[in-house]
Amino acid sequence: PDWSTTDGVDAVANGSDTPPPQDGFTARIEALWERIENAKAEKVYYYLQPIDEIDGPWVQTENQRKLMFATYSYLGLLKHPRIIQAAQAAAEKYGTGTHGVRILGGTLDLHVALEERIARFAGREDAIVYSSGYVTNLATISTLVGRGDWVISDRWNHASIVDGCILAQGKFKRFRHNDMDDLERVLKHAPASAGKLVVADAVFSMDGDIFNLPDAVALCRKYNARLMVDEAHSLGVLGATGRGIEEHFDMPGAVDIKMGTLSKTIPGIGGYIAGDRKLITYLRHSARGFVFSAALPPQVTAAILTAFDVLEEEGVALNRILQRNVEHFISGLKAAGFDTGMTCTPIVPIMVQTEERAMGMTKYCQDHGIFVLPVLPPAVPEGTARLRANVTAAHTPEDIDFALEVFVQAGKQVGVI
Ligand code: PMP
Repeated sequence: PDWSTTDGVDAVANGSDTPPPQDGFTARIEALWERIENAKAEKVYYYLQPIDEIDGPWVQTENQRKLMFATYSYLGLLKHPRIIQAAQAAAEKYGTGTHGVRILGGTLDLHVALEERIARFAGREDAIVYSSGYVTNLATISTLVGRGDWVISDRWNHASIVDGCILAQGKFKRFRHNDMDDLERVLKHAPASAGKLVVADAVFSMDGDIFNLPDAVALCRKYNARLMVDEAHSLGVLGATGRGIEEHFDMPGAVDIKMGTLSKTIPGIGGYIAGDRKLITYLRHSARGFVFSAALPPQVTAAILTAFDVLEEEGVALNRILQRNVEHFISGLKAAGFDTGMTCTPIVPIMVQTEERAMGMTKYCQDHGIFVLPVLPPAVPEGTARLRANVTAAHTPEDIDFALEVFVQAGKQVGVI
């Protein structure tokens, strides 16, 4: 929409030569519009690209085949035949939607089975499934943290956690990224009587580094705080069987509130919290993002249920391939002189600092058959623009070699290496 034109028309209608000043949100809309138009004019706008074919790690966009490096399908389960069959059968049996919200007429036996399945997989008494990972964090944190409580969040946590903290009625405090001294400093300031919730990503979504679970657990015990960990990027990825951060550190049961998404390793949509029965019962009856939002559709629920079976049966083997690919890719980038930050997971940032370099490198990669995207400020701090490449178990060693070649040429072209 061209809001300025509307302003202009109003100004003329009012008999004035000068248009009225822009309000704050119009100015922001205009500024973004201009930024996007400029990027499109320079042919470096790569967001929202429609994909029309998916063939393993290869995708097609606008008649061009590209090797996918911007996917969260870490174990490559996206087109798993058994998972597709389960979705088809459920759609035929139950239809493609539900009767509404879970707490009223929307609960199917499939939802109950899925929550039991997740609880078992996570080693917890119970689990609740929400309609997205974003909603899971938003609704859970804002429901748990009431007046007088504190929520204490790692500075690099995902936006859904930050938004949950903003919506919560309690005090919102942050600690420096993965800095346990700083976490302790914040915990010390909290009144002994306050409920305290510490929240962190297990694998940080922009940098691929891993949360310091052992020290955080010790601090939470010392200061009587509960620990919530977001396993969006660690489910299927960390630990030999892909059970996540507790398995990675060999600390079963260490996390009080386990959050995960069903849209990444698990090829569906939705999010969950696994924890003790009373906590989950409380959330089922109080979390507004659950109580007032429709149930997951049957085909998605059935697909996810089967995906957990597949994860249990094939996860160990797929995870081994994933780890091999991660090492291959990161060591190749480092050998070529790239800075990949602190990652040791499938989320691989290729640090290029400036927006121009990020856009230039993205363009080279996209033109040469690699689907990868830049992450720019304000999504990351100023001066830390990057490409974010995700490795998966679906990539072959030849795919990784091909990608490395393209990244190296792109890096040379924009002067990063
Ligand atoms: N938490 C983290 C750490 C994430 O990276 C994301 C999504 N990228 C979410 C939560 C939200 O999950 P979903 O996309 O399933 O809504």
